[in-house]
Formats: sequence, structure tokens, C-alpha cells
Amino acid sequence: MMTQTSQRDLKAQLVSFARQIGFDSCRIAACTEPAHTSEFREWLRDGAHGEMHYMQRGEEKRCDPQKVLPGARSIVTLALNYFQGEQVRRSPRHVGATGRIARYAWGEDYHDVIEAKLSKIDQFLRSFGGQQKYYVDTGPILERDHAAQAGIGWHGKNTMLIDERLGTWFFLAELLTTLELSVDEPVADHCGTCERCIAACPTGAITAPHRLDARRCISYLTIELKGSIPLELRALIGDRIFGCDDCLDVCPWNRFAQVSHQTAFSARQSTTGMSLREYLELSEVEFRAVFKNSPIKRIKRRGFLRNVCVALGNTGDVSDLPALERAADDPEPLIAEHALWAVEQIRARRGVKSWDRPTRSASLKEAAIS
Ligand code: SF4
Ligand code: SF4
Repeated sequence: MMTQTSQRDLKAQLVSFARQIGFDSCRIAACTEPAHTSEFREWLRDGAHGEMHYMQRGEEKRCDPQKVLPGARSIVTLALNYFQGEQVRRSPRHVGATGRIARYAWGEDYHDVIEAKLSKIDQFLRSFGGQQKYYVDTGPILERDHAAQAGIGWHGKNTMLIDERLGTWFFLAELLTTLELSVDEPVADHCGTCERCIAACPTGAITAPHRLDARRCISYLTIELKGSIPLELRALIGDRIFGCDDCLDVCPWNRFAQVSHQTAFSARQSTTGMSLREYLELSEVEFRAVFKNSPIKRIKRRGFLRNVCVALGNTGDVSDLPALERAADDPEPLIAEHALWAVEQIRARRGVKSWDRPTRSASLKEAAIS
């Protein structure tokens, strides 16, 4: 059993070590039931998690961290700033041509970057006799609840955590540990009467303060959803091809955000310098090469090109039609279906007559005659 002094000493060493390896904040929560378990269960019962079935599978663990690591006493919660400033944001003139990717995905895959750091903290705590389990985003725990309990930030009305210094632009990570560490206090909620994020959401996904219907959220639709994007939501997605930052961009607390020291999250040519049409031409092999080490690789070519087709359907012009018409013949039915939809959108918008798509047998006949 550790004394209070040794708990505080160990915590001070841990916080200093976490900062040394690049984390912007390291705070401790007791390993107890998260504050919003009943709301979480209700959210699942309403089906608001959509196709994220892993949420339901992990329901009991998420509601009781002791089921994740029996004997755990504390949760080390960590924040890592990924803000890269405004310098690579495109001018509106180019937005239609390039599409928008959420800031967190401009650089390297944060899972890889942060897991390497968590492994170092795990080793550090092992040297004090601790047993740990650690996660970045993918674990069966309600990480925002534990992080808010530890005072990493408060729950914004857009459901994201907000830190007074970092705004909303940070990744969360956590280690459950069997060590008992002195806990931190939560911080006060500073949203006040502001509701900018709710008003800014293009799809109405924030149905009430702190309540998100994931099925309408563009982050869900462009990343988590594996199949066809519902027709009624496609136009609302605009030019967003991987995630959405709208409810974060408008948050007044982001005025204070500082550029991250982590160069791993800097924008790359593949996420800020390629046009939608160039994306559409990517073969399977090229896609894997272009998005190597990027979080975008996780949705695979089929998911990404599906999104690109929707963005072109919303923002493209007649010069995009040949590339889309080729994509309508893609062997991957998901891409072909969305490309066909995009062709029809552009034609309808530009008053071009509907596409008489050659059937495969007509094309073969044409090829035989020529
Ligand atoms: S990420 Fe975009 S779609 Fe999702 S809640 Fe925020 S503004 Fe709405
Ligand atoms: S936009 Fe306003 S209401 Fe929404 S999270 Fe930020 S401060 Fe809170």
C-alpha cells in the first residue's frame, strides 16, 4: 500500500516523464464507474451509435473499467496537441477541387505515434510494480468521461473535450494501472450560453447539448460507415472526404490553440495537395502507397473513393465527368454506385442531359466493330 506522499511523488515523476516524451497534459482519475454510464446505455438503446457495433459489444467494459483490468486503481489520462495552425487551409476557390480532410488526419496515423509513447509510460510504471493496459481511441473505455474526471478538459456541447489552453485540437490516450496515484480534480464547464457548435453542424447531428446522433455525423458517415452513404445525407457532406471539423472550427476556445510541437501531424502532400480527381484515379496499390502511415488507410480505397465521389457529386463540374464515368465502372460496387450518383448530380446541376451509360454488351460490340 502506497502512502499519500509516495503516491504524490510517483505522480510528479510520471507527469514529468509524460511531458518529456511529448504529451501536453497528464492527469489522473480514480478507476471508478464513468459519470455518464446511464446516458451511454440509453444512447446505445436508441441506436445512435449506428454501425459502430464494437460500442455495443464493449458496453459492459465501458461501463466498468475493472472489467478491462481487474485490480486497476487509477487511470492515467493524457492529451496530445495536434493543431497545425491555419497555414495549410485552402482558399475557398480550391476547396471544391481538393476536398477537406479533418485536421487530425493531415499527418501520420496518431495511433502509431501515441502507442509508441504509451508503451514508454507502461515501462516506466512497470518499474514501480504497476500492471497496465493502454489505449488510444480504440479501447473499450469511455475515455472522455475519465479524462473529464481527471480535469483534462470539460465536456463541450459538441461532445468533445475542451482544454482552456489546447482548445479541442488534441488526441486523448489513457493507461489503466494497478498503481494508486493521487487523483486530479475536474475543471469547470466554460461553454456557458454558447451553442455555436450546434448551429454549425451541417447535418444536425448534435441533436441537443452533449448529445450526438452518430448516424448523421459526417465523421461517422465518411469513416465508420462501411457501406453506402444514405442518399438524403450525401448533399450535406459537401466537400468533406474524411471526417469533419465544423463543430470544432467554430468553438471560441480554439482561439487560444497553439501549434503542436509534434511534426508527425504536419500536413502532407497526400492530404492537402491532391485534387479529388487525382484521388479518384488511385489504384489499390497506389492508394496504399499514398496513405501509408496515414489514418486514412484504415477506411481502405473503397471507403475513401466512395467519399471522393460524394464530394465530386456535390462540388464538381463537367470537367470531372470523364473521371467519374470511369469510376462508375470500378470493380468495387460501392465506388461504382457513388460515382454514378455523382455523375447524375453534376449533370442535373449543369443542365447536361442525363448520362446514357453504355451497357457492357454495347461497349463490347462497339469495340468489336472498331
Ligand atoms: S463532426 Fe461535423 S457532422 Fe459531426 S457533429 Fe461535428 S459538425 Fe456535425
Ligand atoms: S462551440 Fe460553444 S457550446 Fe460548443 S463546445 Fe465550444 S464553447 Fe461549448
